[in-house]
Amino acid sequence: MRIRVDMTRCQTHAQCVFAAPTVFTLDDNDELSYDAAPDDALRQAIEQAARACPERAIFLDGA
Ligand code: SF4
Repeated sequence: MRIRVDMTRCQTHAQCVFAAPTVFTLDDNDELSYDAAPDDALRQAIEQAARACPERAIFLDGA
């Protein structure tokens, strides 16, 4: 599957990191980085992350 984070919206709340830590991480500068093509098996966790994001910055582009 493909995902995208709108970095103009992302405020580094890190809710996505808690929901799907193998996909979303914060680097040493507290910048979000993420796997744009994660395994489909992670879909549930990623949907949870998208729901948890206070800025609605996470978009799922389908499989
Ligand atoms: S939860 Fe949303 S705003 Fe926070 S770091 Fe993740 S994508 Fe960015």
